[in-house]
Amino acid sequence: MRMWQPTLECMPLPQRRALQTQRLRDIVRRVYECVPFYRARLDAAGLRPDDIRSLDDLPRIPFTVKDDFRQNYPFGLLAVPRRDVVRLHASSGTTGRATVVGYTRADLEIWADVVARFLVMAGVSEDSVCQVAFGYGLFTGGFGLHYGIERIGALVVPAASGHTRRHIQLMKDFGSTHLICTPSYAVHIAETARDMGVDLQRDTRLRVACVGGEPWSEQMRLQLRALHGLEGFDNYGLSELIGPGVSGESPQCRGMHIAEDHFYPEIIDPVTGEPLPYGARGELVLTSLTRQAQPVLRYRTRDITALDPEPCPCGRTHVRMARVTGRSDDMLIIRGVNIFPTQIEHAFLEMQGTSPNYQIIVDRQGALDTLEVKIEVTETMLSDEMKNLHRMELELQKRLSEALSIHPKITLVEPGALPRSEGKALRVIDRRPK
Ligand SMILES: [Zn+2]
Repeated sequence: MRMWQPTLECMPLPQRRALQTQRLRDIVRRVYECVPFYRARLDAAGLRPDDIRSLDDLPRIPFTVKDDFRQNYPFGLLAVPRRDVVRLHASSGTTGRATVVGYTRADLEIWADVVARFLVMAGVSEDSVCQVAFGYGLFTGGFGLHYGIERIGALVVPAASGHTRRHIQLMKDFGSTHLICTPSYAVHIAETARDMGVDLQRDTRLRVACVGGEPWSEQMRLQLRALHGLEGFDNYGLSELIGPGVSGESPQCRGMHIAEDHFYPEIIDPVTGEPLPYGARGELVLTSLTRQAQPVLRYRTRDITALDPEPCPCGRTHVRMARVTGRSDDMLIIRGVNIFPTQIEHAFLEMQGTSPNYQIIVDRQGALDTLEVKIEVTETMLSDEMKNLHRMELELQKRLSEALSIHPKITLVEPGALPRSEGKALRVIDRRPK
């Protein structure tokens, strides 16, 4: 199994700890000196850079949250002069100001390498043809993946998101081997191919989907394989830290290796903020150890996962993070029960005849919250008798009630009935009065 940077990815633990400690101390000193926001934060906590001597001191540092980015819009968090910044990316900013992230030349070099790491894990080589179906622009997905693919020397097809039917034509004509997008868009592209009469296995060379940008379930991975012959590989990242490239997985790994030489992970209790031990599920907090333009200390990602430090069969020594089960922002509280959309997805996809196209509708009748799950059935299921569909609804109702401890209404709909997204899927419609 090839690795992109074997010496770094397989660094023995004591050596890595020493490297992380040195980098943490350097970065704390640098933000204290160069970023007024961090100087004020550390001063308020009664901390001087010299107080942070080891990784154990990290929990003493206050968290950084998304709102800190908004408050310092656009350049308040830069730790270098503006002239050293060579690229900007920004989040959509649907609510309030956008989150702006700057990169120096050195940051872009590191970004390309960490993206190359997870692509190589998914089998990308000089012989691969990688079709990028992420948006290019201020969003980090398109450009982030693009330069990682070029770094490896694979052929990049920067098709971007949208024009789904054209994607199918391009992958036939160019012999694309790897599709790069969100998991929901991978499903949409695969279904569109089928609708166009294109059999991905027979008519194209596409065998792998490198997916990231939104949570998905293990069941969805199994369906991609069973229905479309695509092997799905998970990767994780977020623009506040760098973009895609924080972690990724190989077929031998159970979980995604975090590029720990660049991003130091912690897990905290999302309610109390207290650090949690390895293995415990909680919110991921990341500290950038090498970013120049915009380092960030203890960033609360809102993503729920767990860390596994055990040795991995692939030989990499970096800690692995479990599949993200959801964002704490996406967590639905329905009649006092905490529910993540991925839990619902996992529970119903276990049943034959369901597709990963679904919508969750939360509403309130009187004082009671209601939950409805609309699920598209597969073509084969639709051709069966209506009697079977009703039986299927009852069975799904039973399974979801057991999995979630509340009783949802299940509505099965025809294939293609629910809206599709070319980026991140809109899974939840919450109609409850605020
Ligand atoms: Zn591994």
